[in-house]
Amino acid sequence: MKMNDLTKIGAGQYDALTGLYTATSFITLMDVSNALDGLEHPTLIYINITGFKIFNQSYGFEAGNHFLCEIADELRRHFDGDWIARLGGDRFIIETFGKNLTAIEGSLSAIQANMRLYERGLLMRIKSGIFVSSGTESPMHMIDCAKLAHDTIEDSYTKDIAVYDEKIAKSQSLRHYIVTDFVEAKSSGYIMPFYQREVRALTGECAGYEALARWVDPTNGLIMPGLFIGVLENAHLIHQLDLHIIRCVIKDLRRAIDRGLPVVPVSVNLSRHDFLLCDVFDEVNSLRAANDIPPQLLNIEITEGAFAEGAADLIEAIEKFKAAGYKIWMDDFGSGTSTLNNLRQHDFDVVKLDMNFLRDFETNPKCKVILASIVSMTKELGSHTLCEGVETKEQYEFLRRIGCERLQGYYFGKPMALDFEHSTTSIVFEGDSAAKAHAHEKESMRRYYDMVGGVNVMGAAPLREKDMLVYNNLPITIIELIDDNIHFLYANAAYGKLLKGTGIESLTAADSRANIRGIKENDEFLAFAKRVKESGRTGVMDFVINGKIIATELHPIASADNRSAFVAVSHDVSQYNETRQAKDMQVVLSYLLTLFFRIDLFDLDDGTVDNVFLSSSQGRVTDEDTDAASAVAKYAEKYITPAEQGNFCKFYDMTTVEERIKAAKDRYVSAIFHAKSDNRRQIYQLLIFHMGTHKKVLSCCRSLKRRD
Ligand code: C2E
Ligand code: CA
Ligand code: CA
Repeated sequence: MKMNDLTKIGAGQYDALTGLYTATSFITLMDVSNALDGLEHPTLIYINITGFKIFNQSYGFEAGNHFLCEIADELRRHFDGDWIARLGGDRFIIETFGKNLTAIEGSLSAIQANMRLYERGLLMRIKSGIFVSSGTESPMHMIDCAKLAHDTIEDSYTKDIAVYDEKIAKSQSLRHYIVTDFVEAKSSGYIMPFYQREVRALTGECAGYEALARWVDPTNGLIMPGLFIGVLENAHLIHQLDLHIIRCVIKDLRRAIDRGLPVVPVSVNLSRHDFLLCDVFDEVNSLRAANDIPPQLLNIEITEGAFAEGAADLIEAIEKFKAAGYKIWMDDFGSGTSTLNNLRQHDFDVVKLDMNFLRDFETNPKCKVILASIVSMTKELGSHTLCEGVETKEQYEFLRRIGCERLQGYYFGKPMALDFEHSTTSIVFEGDSAAKAHAHEKESMRRYYDMVGGVNVMGAAPLREKDMLVYNNLPITIIELIDDNIHFLYANAAYGKLLKGTGIESLTAADSRANIRGIKENDEFLAFAKRVKESGRTGVMDFVINGKIIATELHPIASADNRSAFVAVSHDVSQYNETRQAKDMQVVLSYLLTLFFRIDLFDLDDGTVDNVFLSSSQGRVTDEDTDAASAVAKYAEKYITPAEQGNFCKFYDMTTVEERIKAAKDRYVSAIFHAKSDNRRQIYQLLIFHMGTHKKVLSCCRSLKRRD
């Protein structure tokens, strides 16, 4: 039989539109030709035209049909004498006998170039997968292989032709292995969850885990979900995987609870196919109930892509999960196309920002703007935020600053297998050293920090939900009261600036300064915070900090155990007064100063003294000496009556003054001495206060009237 005779076999089964073979007649042809000896080994080409759908939508069905006929003609022209079929839509296959790869590639590029004439500016592309037969493969296998080669470049912008090779063969055999061995691997315990930490940005504590499927195969090694999820979805087996992972998670939680270990919620991933393949709510909920695990310990992650098709059964199942007390998390937010619509149409407890947002964090400043806006928007919409893929300290610090509540990524830890054997007092993972055991957030704290994290510190209205107050870039800080200690959890940039204005360099400095008892404004603030906590209502108060008047509104936001959190909105009132009252203040001050004959400022931290004000009667001792002790000795010798010089030096002993002031239960101590020159009584007063990071003592000296 000759080629021409073979052609007759397929006759009668032509594609009505293009006149090419149909798939069925094409396969019959291949079958017959395979059985013949003496034919050259054929090459199979699978062709798909990208952009055809848009062409159809733009120019209509008829124009689309016309376009396909043009393509069919091109194929006939360039593959004259070969067998060509249309598989349907814009997909074709060709079996060619004489052409080598170079000739085939030349023909395909020529067709692509000619297509420009009738594609109407849409820049469509011909994507081809090529399989060179060894003469032994079945027709279906050849077509599969050519299609597989095509699939590897389907979404590529740079490659239009792929030849089936060893690498594709390997991944194909792995796919085959995955489908055929899945059930066996599952029951043998080779498929299991690895756990990755989710960290509370405000505290650094572990607030939860994400369970990520791993296939630890005895022959193929570690197989990652990137390889098997898609294959299992195509094979309609994905629900079996997901339910298996959830079963493992539930068992792990049960064991941890039974052992008295601290547990935190675990997020599990559901595929959108799960909702079509089984009653996923019913399955999960029965598993959970059978093991007596509270629903609050399982978060359901669903990728935003799942909502793209507006699946009604998905939404129905989500409602059931919610009603039963599960939290619904949106995964990979920002990776798809209908991102904002999803946020508008559904309520998510947590929105997980896709790790692509962090991809060029270091080099592209726009990244930060986008992240800050999304975190702010998500909070305004009432969801919590988690950012995935955090890999560096800089990313961590930035995300904390913009108020992103939870973080996950290699910076905090990779997904790891649970090591139950060593989990005696806390959860331990394989490869973890015992010393690395992480603090786990308690349940009461989770609710507390969720409330604290709900405050949108970036927004124009951080507390709007509660009381409709609107703040525009005012200095905002989140403060915790833990027993009798004040702790600064967070401050925005404006608050940092306000602190600097009062001479306090950082939030850490503010933190330690706030807990020094005996400083007037500190004690006042503590009492104020306690009052606000008790009343549960916003309080307002002015404080003098290092000479600045700071007006502060304190809003209670959450309480749990021994701690309470507040948002403080402050402003420096003295700033506004400066312009209006500065002149008056100057005049008043100058009169006030004349009451004293001298004012000196001692620094307790470096032991020096500076003269601030001096009436004409006095000499400037501090000009010669700024060392406090020797300046005091010189002064005593020069101005104090000899009998009292010893006591005077004791009174001015800067190493004991703080204690003496504390003992006096006041902010100052005073003493009377007699002047050496005329034996007149003089009162000396020492007042302690903070200036910036230094402790200072103000010394004021005044003469007493004869009858005082
Ligand atoms: P996903 O849900 O977005 O999970 C996060 C992925 O990012 C994980 O990949 C994780 O290992 C990886 N990752 C975490 N931190 C970092 C980081 O700092 N940098 C980088 N570059 N990557 C990080 P993995 O485990 O390979 O999982 C891939 C995807 O497979 C998951 O993406 C999820 O969509 C899917 N998947 C995993 N387990 C399951 C499962 O049990 N069921 C279903 N349906 N899908 C799963
Ligand atoms: Ca996930
Ligand atoms: Ca994700």
